[in-house]
Amino acid sequence: MRSGGYFAKLISTNDGRRTNAAHNYLYQRGHCTSASSSKIRITTRRTVVRVLLNDEHASGLEVCDTSDPAQREKITARRMVLVCGGALGTPIILERSGIGDREILDSLGIPVVADLPGVGREYQDHQVYPFPSALLP
Ligand SMILES: Cc1cc2nc3c(=O)[nH]c(=O)nc-3n(C[C@H](O)[C@H](O)[C@H](O)COP(=O)(O)OP(=O)(O)OC[C@H]3O[C@@H](n4cnc5c(N)ncnc54)[C@H](O)[C@@H]3O)c2cc1C
Repeated sequence: MRSGGYFAKLISTNDGRRTNAAHNYLYQRGHCTSASSSKIRITTRRTVVRVLLNDEHASGLEVCDTSDPAQREKITARRMVLVCGGALGTPIILERSGIGDREILDSLGIPVVADLPGVGREYQDHQVYPFPSALLP
């Protein structure tokens, strides 16, 4: 059976063309091209190790060089930290930061900042049932 299917795409309401956050926001405003006009800094080849916490307040991030994890850097947040490492990545970052199930954190020697047993739990399979059909040209 050949795989395939139709999935909704992000279409701009301005011109009806397919788009994404990078083309609709970052490139248009020069965030990726002009350092002087940029309000954000994009770094690549960095892996987030953990969120830096003062008590329970997120104050920044500790990141490492993805190809050399010993190379670490601390980034201070001015206002807030948004963690968006995806369904699998986010809980791991939180757990390394001391946010998660106390039993798991204790077993790994990670100091507990917030005992939240739900972190990284309740994953469910995403069921997909393909129904292939052919349309005449
Ligand atoms: C096979 C598959 C098919 C899908 N098809 C569709 C579809 O057709 N339509 C649809 O709408 N949705 C689809 N989805 C769902 C969609 O991909 C997700 O809902 C969406 O990508 C979630 O976006 P996100 O930004 O939260 O996380 P992600 O897109 O997962 O992005 C998280 C990013 O964080 C990075 N990251 C993780 N940990 C770290 C770390 N420690 N340091 C630095 N970076 C880190 C990851 O490398 C990744 O780039 C599909 C998902 C899968 C798996």
